[in-house]
Order: sequence, then C-alpha cells, then structure tokens
Amino acid sequence: MKTSTKLIHDIPVDPQTGSISVPIYQTSTFVQEAPGVNKGFDYSRSNNPTRQALEDLLAKLEGGHKGFAFASGLAAIDAVIKLLESGDEVVAVDDIYGGTFRLYSFLYEKFGVKVNFVDTSDIQEINDAITDRTKFIWLETPTNPTLKISDVKAIGKLAKANDILLVVDNTFASPIGQQPLQLGADIVVHSATKYLAGHSDVIAGAVVTKEAALSERIKFIQNSSGGVLSPFDSWLTIRGIETLELRLKKQSENAQKVASWLQRRPEVDQVFYPGLPDHPGYHIACEQQSLFGGVLSFSLQDDTIESATQFVCSTRLFQLAESLGGVKSLLCHPAQMTHKSTPAEVRRKAGVADSLVRLSCGIEDADDLIADLERAFANRIQQVPTLQTALK
Ligand SMILES: *Cc1c(COP(=O)(O)O)cnc(C)c1O
Repeated sequence: MKTSTKLIHDIPVDPQTGSISVPIYQTSTFVQEAPGVNKGFDYSRSNNPTRQALEDLLAKLEGGHKGFAFASGLAAIDAVIKLLESGDEVVAVDDIYGGTFRLYSFLYEKFGVKVNFVDTSDIQEINDAITDRTKFIWLETPTNPTLKISDVKAIGKLAKANDILLVVDNTFASPIGQQPLQLGADIVVHSATKYLAGHSDVIAGAVVTKEAALSERIKFIQNSSGGVLSPFDSWLTIRGIETLELRLKKQSENAQKVASWLQRRPEVDQVFYPGLPDHPGYHIACEQQSLFGGVLSFSLQDDTIESATQFVCSTRLFQLAESLGGVKSLLCHPAQMTHKSTPAEVRRKAGVADSLVRLSCGIEDADDLIADLERAFANRIQQVPTLQTALK
C-alpha cells in the first residue's frame, strides 16, 4: 500500500461503536473488575486509548517499534535525554533548535551531561568530538533555520561502530519526507506541533524507537515523568496526520518556488533551501529525503537586525510568528525570536546571520506567497511597531 492510503487506513475504526473517527477517551482512570484486572488501561498517564491510537500511528509512520506521544516536542526530547546518566556526553548539531540548546545547556549541564556542538554536516567533526563517554549523536536534518543537511546513513554507521545511539529530530522533514530509522537512527523525535499536527492548533511531541529495549526504557520514563499528551490533543494530532502527505507535498512545492524566486532578488544575500541544487547538502538531501519540506531561510544584503525587522513586519500573508509546518504561512526572525536564548556569537557561528529570515510555507497558492514577499520588499515599513502600540 502507498503512504497516502496507509495514512488514512492505519487509523483504526472504533471496534465497539464503529465510530470512524478515533473516540476521545476523556478520562483519567478506568474501572477494574478486580484489582489489576482491566481491559489494558488503568490510568491515563500510563496509557489512554486515544493516545495509544496516535502512538501506534507514529510507530507505523516512522517504521519503528513503538511511538510515544508527549505534551510538547521538548517534553519528548526531555524524555530521550533522561536515558543519559551524569558524566555522559552528547555530540550534537551546532545549529540545534533553540529550545533543545536551552534544555541541554542550561538544565542538563547541572546534572553532569556534557554536550559538544559541532557541524554535523562534516562527519569528521563528529568523529573528532566522540570520546569514550559519548552516548548520543544528536542530529537535526534539515536544521533550523539554515537547513543544513547531515548524512544520516553515514553517521548511523559511525554511531554503530562506536556503540553510540543516533537520535534524529525529524521535525523539519517529517516522516513523509525522511525516514531516519530506516537510515540507521535508533530514536526519532518530533515536535508534532509542526508538520504532524499541521494546523498551528496544538503543542505536541513524539518519540519513536527502533527496538524493543529502547521502547521499554522510554515507556518507563514517559510514565515516571508524566509529560504525556492529552486525549483531545492526541485526537487533534491524529486528525492532522491524516492529511500530512497532501500538506507536505504542497508546502514543499511552494517552498521550492519561493526559494528560486528569492535567489533572483537583489535585496537577498543567501537563500538556504535543500531543494536548491547549489545548496551544499543538496545531493545528500536527494538521497535521504523524498521531499524537501516547506521551510527555507534567507539573509539580506543589508545584514542587520533592523532591516530584517522591517521586512518581517511588512508581509501580509506570511504571518509573523514562531513555529512552522502549519497550513498558514509564517515567517520569523530567528535572531530575535526562536534563537533569542542562543548567545549571539554562538548563533552567528552556526550560520544564523543577524538578518536571517525564516519562512514556513503553508498550503496557499505559491504566486500569492511570492506576491506577498515582493510587496514587502517594495514597501518595507519604516516604523516598526512597539510594545506600546501593540498593546493598544
Ligand atoms: C519546535 C521544535 C522543537 C520543540 O517542540 P515544541 O513542540 O515547541 O516543544 C524541537 N525541535 C525542533 C526542530 C522544532 O522545530
């Protein structure tokens, strides 16, 4: 069966009632016939039928052993980090998602976890950073927001040879665009807030494990720490996933057109999109991705915070907001938004220029999106709104 068919039919019809939509089991607990005698559910933190339907779907989507749904992407990432012990080390991608950087650097450092941030698009840099205490290689590919590509297959081999787990944050590609577990990863994480749910209406996260031993450990952490996804949000995420392929195809098509157009603009310095043949990761992306995704970024000739601020305040269809992957196009200014908690010199070193603007293409018509950007270049507002005017 093809993916589009599976996406719809892997979601079970309710066996009790025939409900074609997975019922929302909005309950905290389940009545038992005798102590410990139940229908497979006892308490919704441990397990809930709506969440389980999503978790089964996540495992199928990524081709993994088990899926786990969390209250946010960072809760999912936090659960994976809890596999580590004090003294363990991680080799991670340098332009890592800002929240993951914050979690590792400002929270887990005090518990004795050490992270080496390297340019993972260069496998030699990973190799050089590995010590006998390294337990994870942590990738995002494409990365946020410069869309850098790392070779998952080659890095998977390196991880295996050193007895290290390879974790891939697959948020940007989505399981439709890329299947890290098939390329050699051991664990996949997602901010399901983005492409999986896809409508900018839920905060959710996912972990998918490749093998049973890891599944057991993640299940233990999920139940012990309790950052689970609610039944309603699980239902919303399932509903989003039903149209994942349709959306991602359209979003990738839009991003490709917008990226090519931006490359021809005099105001633009560099365009970052893995679907552009001059992108340094283009050939690896072609091998490991079936779609390039809806996110791209670009820097301006006038590489200042001010000129980027003026631009991001001047579009009308691209709404200024954090997040990505939804049906509505969004744009953001990483230096002041998603990467605000990353120190400026670390941010610049990772290629996130002061003027870098990130676009997340939605499912609108590409011509309208391009017209919106063209208008914003032509009529950049001079007076940027302030907190005082915004609160009015
Ligand atoms: C958004 C995002 C996260 C964090 O997910 P939340 O759902 O916001 O907690 C992690 N990784 C990447 C790549 C993201 O884009």
